[in-house]
Amino acid sequence: MRPTDKKKEMLPACGYGLLGLCCSGCLLGPCRLSPFEQESLTGLCGMNADALVAQNLLRFVQTEAAWEISRWRALIIELQTWNPPPPAQKGEARWTKKILFEKYGLSPRLPLRKAIQVLLREVRNFISPVPEGHRSFLFRFFPQKAWPSPFDDHSQPISLTQLLLNSWGRNKSESSGVEGPLQECLDLSLIVLLSQRLREDLRLLIEKKETFPGERVSTLLGGIAVPPPPFIVVLSESESLLPEPEQRQVDELLPTLDKAFPLIRLRNTGALADLGQEVSASWSLAIPDIRVVVLVTTTKVTTVLGALALGFKVTSIPPLPIHGSKEAEEFFLEGLRRKFGNTYLLSWEGDLSSKILDFLA
Ligand code: SF4
Repeated sequence: MRPTDKKKEMLPACGYGLLGLCCSGCLLGPCRLSPFEQESLTGLCGMNADALVAQNLLRFVQTEAAWEISRWRALIIELQTWNPPPPAQKGEARWTKKILFEKYGLSPRLPLRKAIQVLLREVRNFISPVPEGHRSFLFRFFPQKAWPSPFDDHSQPISLTQLLLNSWGRNKSESSGVEGPLQECLDLSLIVLLSQRLREDLRLLIEKKETFPGERVSTLLGGIAVPPPPFIVVLSESESLLPEPEQRQVDELLPTLDKAFPLIRLRNTGALADLGQEVSASWSLAIPDIRVVVLVTTTKVTTVLGALALGFKVTSIPPLPIHGSKEAEEFFLEGLRRKFGNTYLLSWEGDLSSKILDFLA
């Protein structure tokens, strides 16, 4: 049944689930913790509300990360047998190739087929459970000053699969607080976001997509003065459409925001990485240093968290399911602000448009 079907629309959302307080993590559950008795209640395994909210969020992220890995399979098979088109390429295709070759440090003289093979080797490493120990591929996404790079930590795994397996393998008692699992949520989500950017770039190279890499974002930013005034980015994805009530909320919010500040609409998550690079190239600023709010309107949790991990101030419709834990909220609101200078704006209470406008004013 599609999310817009009438029947599904009328089903009430699980109140415990919205707060992050409903867990189906094992066969003993589901366990639901009342938000009014959080101090005393635990799940049957002993997890308290804070740990349960954090582990729930991590489980969402792990599922989406596994899904992202599975999406590489079809593209890799396609790339292995791909043959370049005749040399008389369209101007657009040549331009795309030039931008992407520069981005990945490939010689402009390298034939396209060879370049695809080089990138394929890197991709295999990127999704391997036992990657070889070099990290140049991912560093290319982190131009100096664009956003805080998690890869400054050299003990950090360099493959999406390795990061996911480490996260699954960690004993729950090792990560019983909220900070460890929530930091893992951010790390994994960031790599999922970069993975999406990689897939989009490869599809651009073999002309399976029609947009330009980076250029579209720079065109949009071209209308914004220097130094940059506050602006808003609305990120929605065609593959994760919102149910009607949430979409209505977005539709009512956007005209107010549009009147107050320049508004950029992005249709794919990977474009946020381009935006970070454009900000760095145009203004030599880091993402947390500019006044921008990203409104994420998608059902995918890795998109919201990936945007946060890049250093953006973020809000989302629907909201993250963290309201059941004061510690988790504190991590995303104040903890991030202290550590990276960004934050998550709560969208489930009060007037979201006033919050965004006040924040940018
Ligand atoms: S709270 Fe613990 S016991 Fe209950 S479902 Fe989750 S993991 Fe299982």
